[in-house]
Amino acid sequence: MRQDFYTFADAKHFTMNIPMLDLKGQYKRIKNEIDTAIHNVLDNTNFINGPDVHRFESNLAKYLDSRYVIACANGTDALQIAMMALKLQPGDEVIVPSFTYAATAEVVGLLGLVPVLVDVDKFSFNIKVEDIENAISERTKAIVPVHLFGQAADMERIMEIASRYNLYVIEDNAQALGAKYTFSDGTVKHLGTIGHIGCTSFFPTKNLGCYGDGGAIFTQDPALAERVRMVTDHGQRVKYYHDIIGCNSRLDTLQAAVLDIKLKYLDEYSASRYGAAQIYKELLEGINEITLPQEMTYSTHVYHQFTIQVSEKREELREYLAGKGISSMIYYPMSLNNQKAFSSISRVGTSLKNSEMLASTVLSLPMHTELTPQVQKIICEEIKFFFSEN
Ligand SMILES: *Cc1c(COP(=O)(O)O)cnc(C)c1O
Repeated sequence: MRQDFYTFADAKHFTMNIPMLDLKGQYKRIKNEIDTAIHNVLDNTNFINGPDVHRFESNLAKYLDSRYVIACANGTDALQIAMMALKLQPGDEVIVPSFTYAATAEVVGLLGLVPVLVDVDKFSFNIKVEDIENAISERTKAIVPVHLFGQAADMERIMEIASRYNLYVIEDNAQALGAKYTFSDGTVKHLGTIGHIGCTSFFPTKNLGCYGDGGAIFTQDPALAERVRMVTDHGQRVKYYHDIIGCNSRLDTLQAAVLDIKLKYLDEYSASRYGAAQIYKELLEGINEITLPQEMTYSTHVYHQFTIQVSEKREELREYLAGKGISSMIYYPMSLNNQKAFSSISRVGTSLKNSEMLASTVLSLPMHTELTPQVQKIICEEIKFFFSEN
């Protein structure tokens, strides 16, 4: 091991693992507040629909400047509930990017709808707006843009297409909560509040993560908000009077209590991630085999992931880093059109060459709120060393 390569302060990391994220470090900084909130819930035993749930919904609505926020059990449910509330019917087509987490398209299939796969842009990783119109058919009812890795899909153009073809827009904002979109007239909106419905996840690894499962749905439309709420609660408006078929999808009180505290720190967390991304970019500049992630002018970036594209020897680099105790992850190794579960139920709307290219080149590096420049320096020096030797 090339010890001379590092400063003395770095040396201790040789015996450490460098993980993708550090939830424990983040918890420790707010331990007192969190523990108190959890004990309050335990003391009150109001485990379902306790006051924390409502308080969190209302604080998140304020934070996002969203008229309605309805909490639910997880991000996948949020997407399903959105499609149920919009009364999408079996056979209806829903446009989704082919390079995303499977949950986006899975709920489409679950409801008997047809996912129509559209390619993504190779710089933003987000749905390629130029391709959306070619994928629209008579049966198309909705578009689900995913704000992948922490920055917005091009919402202004997506909303324009949607309004021309009379389609719903459901934003999958599981990865970019806290990021904002700037329209050409200067209007700025939080992601998740632009489409007819926005969905997010509070899975522990997300930018606003709880200590279990959680999710939420956003809308600006009172009638839709009421329907969403009914769908999350067995289709009832009044207890034991069931008007529509719904499901059971609740954020539990303990998770709401945790989230209500963490929400206060979300902007600080986003700033840490953004700062860490700038350091990565500086340190990884000029390596020919690597394409760095790009920031779009219309969006802020909250770096859910810091994802590079490695044109050659990605697997070897990943193994080399693993050997040094440095974690990295491939989000995502397969484009949806190549996934067994989707091949027979989806329709391929356009060429998916960027999605397929990205599946074989992307590599996400450790990214979290506790990342230090020293650790990033180790990671980047190892990457540079790998390419100088290979
Ligand atoms: C995490 C995630 C989901 C699903 O959220 P869960 O809370 O895990 O159900 C959906 N879409 C995207 C893009 C995600 O990253």
